[in-house]
Amino acid sequence: PDTAPRTRMPLHWKMAIGFASGLLLGLLVYSAQVPGADVFMRYVTDPVGQLFLRLLFMLVIPLIFSALVLGVVEIGDPESLGRIGLKTLLYILVVTAIAVAIGMLMVNVFQPGAGMSREVGEALMARESEASAAIMTHRESLSGIDILLNIVPRNPVQAAADGELISVMFFALMFGIAATVMRTPGVNAFVGTVQGTYEISLKLIDWVIRTAPYAVFALMFSLAAKVGLTALKPLAMYVLVAAGAMALHMVVVFPLLLRFVGGMSPLFFFRRAQLAMLTAFSTSSSSATLPTTLRVAEEELATPRRIGRFVCTLGATANMNGTALFEGVTVLFLAQFFLIDLSLGQQVLIVLMCVLGGVGAAGVPGGSLPVIAMILVMFGIPPEGLGLILGVDRFLDMCRTCVNVTGDLVGTVVISHSEAGRAHVELPE
Ligand code: ASP
Repeated sequence: PDTAPRTRMPLHWKMAIGFASGLLLGLLVYSAQVPGADVFMRYVTDPVGQLFLRLLFMLVIPLIFSALVLGVVEIGDPESLGRIGLKTLLYILVVTAIAVAIGMLMVNVFQPGAGMSREVGEALMARESEASAAIMTHRESLSGIDILLNIVPRNPVQAAADGELISVMFFALMFGIAATVMRTPGVNAFVGTVQGTYEISLKLIDWVIRTAPYAVFALMFSLAAKVGLTALKPLAMYVLVAAGAMALHMVVVFPLLLRFVGGMSPLFFFRRAQLAMLTAFSTSSSSATLPTTLRVAEEELATPRRIGRFVCTLGATANMNGTALFEGVTVLFLAQFFLIDLSLGQQVLIVLMCVLGGVGAAGVPGGSLPVIAMILVMFGIPPEGLGLILGVDRFLDMCRTCVNVTGDLVGTVVISHSEAGRAHVELPE
């Protein structure tokens, strides 16, 4: 038997190769008008791309439901810090919303997706995919009070079937709250089941993401063969805007929080947090970084262990500043790219979706992709746009994970500082 160790190429290299080869071949087909390319696209690359998107959609409901229920249960657990739980929740919501707002503002200012010609945009829109059509219900443009009313589903199962993500999230939150106030044996068993659902969903995401290189090839090929080089400049702009917005959050918002609410010098913080930041950057996974994050919180930043343990553990799945910011940037960018006008009301709704999307995304590489696919569909943006951004996603994933983990540490410092005046908070155990 062959005992030589199998050398596997890292996934992000495979994705880069899929992206580059899909793009090059697609461009070739576009410029040389290769005969039969249509048929190839119809029967090979389009279905492969669609398959991948379908697999992502498939995971959204179990993932979001379980992640949100668990998040609430963890915060509300009376044994694990009721007051600190509420503070953490407030912190997560406020700071994540700031992150999303920064991202969306940058997209509105720099317009990375603009510049597509109307014809190209319409051509892309015209072939609205079967997958998105299948879950896209007819959406009259709702306004004001109706948008709010619609958050509460009449029927949670139907909401899930229709891809009404926000209603499903609302239902999951209510479920989690109810589960927290009565920890009977039956409820505990249910929470165990939800935990299992979450873990299984993570495994499935892992499998799906492994097929991403082929999907990236297929999606890029189809896109390039249809629109040629026109897509590249917006894509480069998109990466710059997304990375720039994350940098802004990192060097402005975090230092302000540290200095004025956390009582810690930002310079001290960034020197001490390096290890966790680098680990996050290189693993693209908040969950994989968690042990390092915990160590840094306790040993380098000297925050009380029980606060660090709570905030960082919860934060690894629920406090995702970078991910939420990225989701906002991506949705707006693709809306620009596909020439879809979003009203101010819709943009406000996107902020809300992205904040919750940050909570619902899993702390694994590409964990936000299912969520973002679903948000796109919600706003009538073709999810095929994901093909465009997948090729550059690894880099942005590294950046956003770094922001996510740094955010968990900043949160730990802020919450610890706010508790410092209280007599019953023990020093590091
Ligand atoms: N990779 C990110 C994290 O683990 C999640 C994502 O945005 O894909 O924090």
